[in-house]
Amino acid sequence: MLETFLVNILFLVFPVLLTVVFLDNIKESHYSLFLLFFSLSMILCMIYPIKLEIGFIFDLRYVPFIIVALYGGYKRVLPLYIILNMYRFFIGGDGFVQSFAFSTVILIALPMITHQFTGYNSRKRIITGVIAGVMTMLFYLLTLSSYFEKLTNEYWTLAFYAVTTHGIVIAINLIMIEKIISNIKNRENFLLGERLHVMSELSASVSHEIRNPLTVTKGFLQLLNVSKDITGEDKVYIDFSLQELIRAENILNDYLAFAKPQSEHMVHSDLKEETEYVKNILMPLAIFHNVEIVYVFSNSLKKRFDQNQMKQCLINLLKNAIEAMKEEGGTLYIQVIEQGKNIVICIQDEGVGMTKDEILQLGKPYYSNKKEGTGLGMLMVYGTVSKIKGKVDVQSKIGEGTTFTITIPT
Ligand code: ADP
Ligand code: MG
Repeated sequence: MLETFLVNILFLVFPVLLTVVFLDNIKESHYSLFLLFFSLSMILCMIYPIKLEIGFIFDLRYVPFIIVALYGGYKRVLPLYIILNMYRFFIGGDGFVQSFAFSTVILIALPMITHQFTGYNSRKRIITGVIAGVMTMLFYLLTLSSYFEKLTNEYWTLAFYAVTTHGIVIAINLIMIEKIISNIKNRENFLLGERLHVMSELSASVSHEIRNPLTVTKGFLQLLNVSKDITGEDKVYIDFSLQELIRAENILNDYLAFAKPQSEHMVHSDLKEETEYVKNILMPLAIFHNVEIVYVFSNSLKKRFDQNQMKQCLINLLKNAIEAMKEEGGTLYIQVIEQGKNIVICIQDEGVGMTKDEILQLGKPYYSNKKEGTGLGMLMVYGTVSKIKGKVDVQSKIGEGTTFTITIPT
């Protein structure tokens, strides 16, 4: 029995293994391949069931099924459901109808929680997955018990083995899957961090050089614009030029309101000075857009960082928050608190909010939904935070608002 058990474990880690070996990235386009792996693993589990000494047989076909149902929802688990029942029909024997009914119930029940499930953190996903697996088995045993006149010792032995194996196997599987996901994420973060680093170095020096000529040009154009000697047509051209110049300036502002190139200004600070400074200079913008600012500071931890960059980063976040509320106004909450050994900056607005997809786009260069937007603000934010080994978490709901939580380890 131990041998078949081990063979089954092999079948079940097989999709995970193939994923690690052959796919170095998890993309939407890989899903058909995943489904193939998981289907294979499901069928192998059915071909080599676990035979208990007491004469009962059970198999682990529901392990891949449950995993795909939890992570993928209805759309993804449906092919597995079809394959499972086709294969079961092909094997023949009695019990097909029961198996069909049972798998249908699982098909309907489990993907109901996919939405919450994918929003959980890794640990909660593993725990939920194990609970889902155990519950599925308990439900299975419950339906099975109706075939027994009396619940014999054998039944309880089967029950014990079925429940524990499912729990353990799902736990092993989920731990591996979660580990892979986090490894891939870490690698992506690392690569992004590298890219951001290079970009910020480069852009800092370039934009400093550009700022002065830009200011001069803008000044002369503005002078020209009020001159009486120019025709209407000329004025249109000048207006266009000014608009474009303002756009270019916006880009510089998102990046370089404070930073002087190649001159880091490292400080060891609790962030009080920086947040208050930034709050004060954004006050006029907030009042203009009917935004009230609620500011809470309660932190005694200190961290070393580049002060100019940090100010810029906070400005970009707060500006976005205020801009998100510019239609209807609202309250902007700025909190700096300590949590264990971390400084946590929490910036919450009651603005337009973002969809899940929009959140994923955040920080990509030039991603902007605004007419005058640069799409560089968040890029700078992610760059700065990753430099000091911090993390940015975004929670958002359309129409309700957005919360940015920045956790900085000290
Ligand atoms: P920009 O502000 O120039 O558009 P950013 O990189 O600062 O560029 O932001 C990118 C996009 O992210 C914005 O256009 C906006 O759609 C979205 N965004 C950022 N912060 C928020 C927020 N607090 N609420 C709603 N949307 C936001
Ligand atoms: Mg912005």
